[in-house]
Amino acid sequence: MKVSVDRAACYGSAECAHRAPSVFGFEDGYGLVRSGQEGAGDDPQVREAAEKCPSQAIVLTR
Ligand code: SF4
Repeated sequence: MKVSVDRAACYGSAECAHRAPSVFGFEDGYGLVRSGQEGAGDDPQVREAAEKCPSQAIVLTR
């Protein structure tokens, strides 16, 4: 699965970057998917980060 962050929805809690730091970064007050990690949506830590994101800004797609 693919993973992305909906910047319009993200409110910058940085939790994703703490939960799965190899996939998510935090820059300018927003979470982001690190370059080259866009296909990491099947990683259990990424799925958990998506579930726990307080603004549901982490998008998993096929
Ligand atoms: S956990 Fe969600 S709200 Fe927090 S920085 Fe990541 S994407 Fe944004």
